[in-house]
Amino acid sequence: MNKESIYGLTFEQLSAWLLEHGHKKGRASKVWEWLYRKRVTSFVDMVDVNKDLLTLLEKNYSIQTLTEHTKQESADGTIKFLLKLSDGNLIETVLMRHKYGLSVCVTTQVGCNIGCSFCASGLLKKDRDLSSGEIVEQIMKVQLHLDQVGKGERVSHIVVMGIGEPFDNFENMVDFLEIVKDQKGLEIGPRHITVSTSGLADKIYEFADMKLQVNLAISLHAPNNELRTRIMKINRAIPLEKLMPAIDYYIEKSNRRITIEYILLKDVNDQKEHALELAELMGDRRAYVNLIPYNPVDEHSQYQRSEERTVLDFYDTLKKKGITCGIRIEHGTDIDAACGQLRSKQMKEPQTK
Ligand code: SAH
Ligand code: SF4
Repeated sequence: MNKESIYGLTFEQLSAWLLEHGHKKGRASKVWEWLYRKRVTSFVDMVDVNKDLLTLLEKNYSIQTLTEHTKQESADGTIKFLLKLSDGNLIETVLMRHKYGLSVCVTTQVGCNIGCSFCASGLLKKDRDLSSGEIVEQIMKVQLHLDQVGKGERVSHIVVMGIGEPFDNFENMVDFLEIVKDQKGLEIGPRHITVSTSGLADKIYEFADMKLQVNLAISLHAPNNELRTRIMKINRAIPLEKLMPAIDYYIEKSNRRITIEYILLKDVNDQKEHALELAELMGDRRAYVNLIPYNPVDEHSQYQRSEERTVLDFYDTLKKKGITCGIRIEHGTDIDAACGQLRSKQMKEPQTK
């Protein structure tokens, strides 16, 4: 059987595990430092860690469970990593360069069951959830790549916007957040982390109560139930009457503004009437509306990208209504790497190469 990734343990879980196995809890700090600060990739490199403990760790855990399948670099510096899981499934992780730092977009599931009508990730039904370790390891893979390049660059931001619905893999996603935020480790500030959801209301409440202080983004994409159900079938089970109160609860509990994602689909949801309706729906909520140019997906040929003029008009209408909004800058378009259009072209590595 494949050993689990040690990156999947929170500091507390590692400490408890050590105690259970007859080691001093305090040794966790040292192991943690080797993993996240010195970033070794094998246990034997943890030279000052108790030998018995190293043997025990080696027996039960792996540091590297993902292998790099391919890596594509875009002209704008975006890098898309296609990573192979220990069961042969392939997932995507993307590094993006911004003025404010380096962000990584992580995948949380192999495929996605929500099946939104415009999305490439939802074309493949969920095969399985990723473990917390497999999600953390995506960040580590990118960081190790940066370490190797040797310019001293650090991953400073995380967006949970790769393949999958993070709130459908709730516990592992929350452990992942605890691990990357930990001040003894990668120390990525919660305000530098954004989790995006298609709107699983119950989980939004639960998440709000955890007070993790991360940014929450909601894939709204339509200003009314009729249209939203047409493009996102999840809206049938969780319509706006359920979603909006959950959003308000998150704003109140976190005392933070929420991000509303709105993909512009030509002639579907990009008309002035839609902008006005969206402004009405937002009201005076503390929200930032992120207008997202649609990345065409071959299998969803019913949708096209809105004209640039339409996007600007939509933006102007929202602005005039006093809505805080922006148009998302695209990254890595030449290599199909934009978040939200991730899809492993093959989900399993072909047998013959
Ligand atoms: N499942 C979560 C997170 C992953 S999708 C969610 O739906 O929020 C991340 C974002 O990319 C979502 O806002 C999603 O609606 C958007 N997206 C999906 N397909 C897209 C496409 N073809 N073009 C642009 N954005 C897309
Ligand atoms: Fe899943 Fe998000 Fe794609 Fe919808 S948009 S199918 S929830 S990954």
